[in-house]
This record gives sequence, structure tokens and C-alpha cells, in this order.
Amino acid sequence: MTIVADTCGRHDTLGGACAQESNTVRYAADKRYMHSCRDNFLCACLHDGRLDKGNIAANVNFFMNVPVTPEGGLTFEDGISAAGKYVELLAECDVIVLISNCPQLNNPCNGWNPTAAEVLVWN
Ligand SMILES: [Zn+2]
Repeated sequence: MTIVADTCGRHDTLGGACAQESNTVRYAADKRYMHSCRDNFLCACLHDGRLDKGNIAANVNFFMNVPVTPEGGLTFEDGISAAGKYVELLAECDVIVLISNCPQLNNPCNGWNPTAAEVLVWN
């Protein structure tokens, strides 16, 4: 897919999907069994029945602000997106898109107030 429009301009392509393991390390051991994007992707593959974890490509965390520090680390900063901001993607071939609108209840970047995402698909 190709990004053909972007009114936010800040997205994360390095952090990957949150997972049981990363949430446990990042937040606390008792967060291990909370939902995660990785689990959401795996559940979607199992539900489809034609896919498995080998079909999951690297994800993009649209609207997530994860700057790289001078030392090469990653930080999670407050988002710079806002209502009405959007990304438009052009599918260059047939694709299956998995979306995990992770509320990430442990991450203060949304002020603990995650909001809905809307997806429009057209030909
Ligand atoms: Zn997540």
C-alpha cells in the first residue's frame, strides 16, 4: 500500500505492535494478560482460518508519536494527531488489512482517553 495523503505527518514504524511480553516489561507483570495488538492480529488470523502468524507483516502505528532519542532509543510521547486527521492509503494489489485500535490502557500518551478510529474503504 502507498500513503497518498497524510494530514498528521507523524507515525511510528519502529515500535511494532504491542505484545504480551512488551506490555509486561514496559508496564508491570500483572499486565501480562491484558489485551495486546499482537494478540488481536493473531486472533484475526485464526478467525480467518487461511492465515497464520507467518502472514503478519510489520505494522505501522498510525498517529503514534515515538521519537528516536539521540542515543538511539525510543520514547512514547503525546500524540500530535487530532480529530479529523487522516491517512489515505492506496492498495497497489489485493491486500488484507488488520487493524488493532489498541486503547493501550497503560500508556498515558492519550491522557488515558483513547478515541475511536474510523475506516473508509472505497473502489
Ligand atoms: Zn497495542
